[in-house]
Amino acid sequence: MEQTFVILKPSTIERFLIGDVLTRFQHRGLKISGIKMMQLDEKILREHYAHLVDRPFFPSLVASMTRTPVIVMVLEGKEAVETVRSMTGATNCRKAAPGTIRGDFGLSGQENIVHASDSVDNAKIEINRFFKPEEIFDYSLLIRPAIYAADEI
Ligand code: UDP
Ligand code: MG
Repeated sequence: MEQTFVILKPSTIERFLIGDVLTRFQHRGLKISGIKMMQLDEKILREHYAHLVDRPFFPSLVASMTRTPVIVMVLEGKEAVETVRSMTGATNCRKAAPGTIRGDFGLSGQENIVHASDSVDNAKIEINRFFKPEEIFDYSLLIRPAIYAADEI
């Protein structure tokens, strides 16, 4: 099934919001295929945020993303990329709709709680960037018939 990549950013770790954000994904029915804490550095952020390296806020973004370790995860579900991206909300938390993670937990454009992959192709690239194959687990969930009808999977 489709997989997507999520980062719980330093502000989430610092504000003790890991559980609240993770619960959102679990209550939606997404399966955690991989999860770990890691310290990011400028090298990996220059790859991950390659589309932003020339923007004036890039040094501040690197400082923000390296302030504490982060939680990285692989979430799995039918159309997981689009589902998680819509749960995340607009980049600027002040513009994000209530009910989204950013719209409920943040007030900043930069300190915006989570990263989520924006396309299926980028999800694959990002998962490979942050996870080794043996850190992603293929297991079955007994609850699956309660999450999807048989003809949906
Ligand atoms: N960002 C920022 N200022 C901006 C735009 C983006 O600090 O004007 C940060 C913000 O933390 C955002 C990240 O850069 O989440 C990546 O930006 P992108 O445009 O990819 O937004 P996202 O995909 O995270 O919604
Ligand atoms: Mg992005």
